[in-house]
Amino acid sequence: MANYNPYDNVLKVMNEAAEILGYSDSDIAALKYPERELKVSFPIVMDDGSTKVFEGFRVQHSTARGPAKGGVRFHYAVNSDEVKALAAWMTFKCAVVGIPYGGGKGGVICNPAKLSERELHEITKQFTIAIAPLIGPEKDIPAPDVGSTASMMGWMMDTYSMLQGRTVRGVVTGKPVEIGGSLGRTEATGRGVMFTTKNILNKLDIPVEGTTLAVQGMGNVGSISAKLLYEEGMKVVAVSNSSGGIYNKDGLNIPAILDYLSKDRKNLLSEYNEEGIVHISNEELLELDVKVLIPAALENQINETNADKIKARVIVEAANGPTTAEADEILASKGIVVVPDILANAGGVVVSYFEWVQNLQSISWTEEDVNAKLKDIMDPSFNAVWDIAQENDTTLRTGAYLIAIKRVVEARKLRGI
Ligand code: NAD
Repeated sequence: MANYNPYDNVLKVMNEAAEILGYSDSDIAALKYPERELKVSFPIVMDDGSTKVFEGFRVQHSTARGPAKGGVRFHYAVNSDEVKALAAWMTFKCAVVGIPYGGGKGGVICNPAKLSERELHEITKQFTIAIAPLIGPEKDIPAPDVGSTASMMGWMMDTYSMLQGRTVRGVVTGKPVEIGGSLGRTEATGRGVMFTTKNILNKLDIPVEGTTLAVQGMGNVGSISAKLLYEEGMKVVAVSNSSGGIYNKDGLNIPAILDYLSKDRKNLLSEYNEEGIVHISNEELLELDVKVLIPAALENQINETNADKIKARVIVEAANGPTTAEADEILASKGIVVVPDILANAGGVVVSYFEWVQNLQSISWTEEDVNAKLKDIMDPSFNAVWDIAQENDTTLRTGAYLIAIKRVVEARKLRGI
C-alpha cells in the first residue's frame, strides 16, 4: 500500500470546508498546525533483563474550545504525523458533537501483543511521567485508543496521582469503573456507531433488520459495533482483525465469535471455525458485496487502490481516518454514502466527557442514564450534519467539517486569539 500521510487528508477537508464557509486563509491558518507537540523517550528494563528505550508522543492540536482530549495509541507503527492527524480529528470531533474540549492525541511506539503485563505497566507509567507536564484534568485528558485498555488508563491515573500527591480521577477517561470510570464507556464508541448506522439507514430508507454488514477490526470499537448491530437485527456476514477475516453469506454468530476472542487475547480470528464460514483477507472483506461496511481498525484502509472495488452502499467510519481523500472522491462519484469518523465514532469521547463530568463532581450515573444521554447527543449531531450537507449539496464529511470548523474558528474569534 502506498505511504499515505493522514495529516494531508485533514488539511484537504479543512480547506474545502473553510472555502464553503467563506473563511480566509488567515481564519484557519492556525488550525493547520498543532498548538503543542511533545516527543519523549524513556528506558524500560525488559523481562529478560535487557534495557530498551521506547519513544512516544503527545500532541495538542487545539485548546480553543476547552482542554485537549484524546486517546493514547500503543502500536508499533505509530508516528508523529499519525498522532498529529488523530489530534486534529479530535478537535473537530469534539466540536461537531458540541462537547467542551479541544483535541489531543498520544502514541507510544511498541507492540502490546509482544509485551508482558509487567512491561506494559512499566511503559505506561514511564510514558505518563514523561508527558505529565502537559496533561491534567483542566489541560489535556488522555483515554484509550488502539492497543490501550481500561487497565492502562488506571495505571496512567495512578502515576499522575502519585506525582500530584493526591488522587486525580479526572486526568484520564476510560478507566476501570471501580476507580472512577463511567458505566457504559467501554461500549460507548460502538454504541455511537450503532446509533449512527441506524440513523443513516433510516435516512436512506434501508431497513435495519436483515441488512448485510461487514466489520473490519474486531477490537473494542468493531466488536461492540458488530454486537449491537447484530442485536438490532442486521446480518453481520463478515468480520476481521489483524490475523484475517471470516465470512458467512448467511450471517455470522457474533456472540460466539466474541466469546472465542474474549477467552484469550491470543485467540486468532484466522483460527476460528464455525459451520459455513470462509476465511478471507482484510482486502477481500472491504470489497464484499454488502449494504453496510464498518471499517473499525486503522487509517487509510480505503484508498485509491481499492475504492473503486468497494460495493457497499454505506460506509460508517468507526475507525479514525479509514478513508483517504482520494478514495473519498471515488466513493462519492459511485454514490456511496460515507458517514465520517468525526461524527460516527464520537460516542467514545462523548462518554469520556460524561466520565470527566462525573469525576469532577464525585458522582456516578447509571448505565441507562449514560446511554440515554449519549443518544441525546449522537442523534441531533447526526441530523445537523445530514441537514447541512443537504443544504450545501456536500458529502456528509464536508458537512461535519462545516459545523466543526465554524465552531472552532468562532471560539478562537470570541476569545480574541
Ligand atoms: P483496538 O486495539 O481495540 O482494536 C483494533 C482492532 O483492529 C484489533 O482487533 C486489530 O487486530 C485490528 N486490526 C489492526 N489492523 C488491522 C487490519 N489491517 N485489518 C483488520 N483489522 C486490523 O482499537 P479500538 O479502540 O477498537 O480502535 C479502533 C479504531 O477506532 C481506531 O481507528 C481508533 O482510533 C478508533 N476509535 C477508538 C475509540 C475508542 O473509544 N477506543 C474511539 C473513537 C475512535
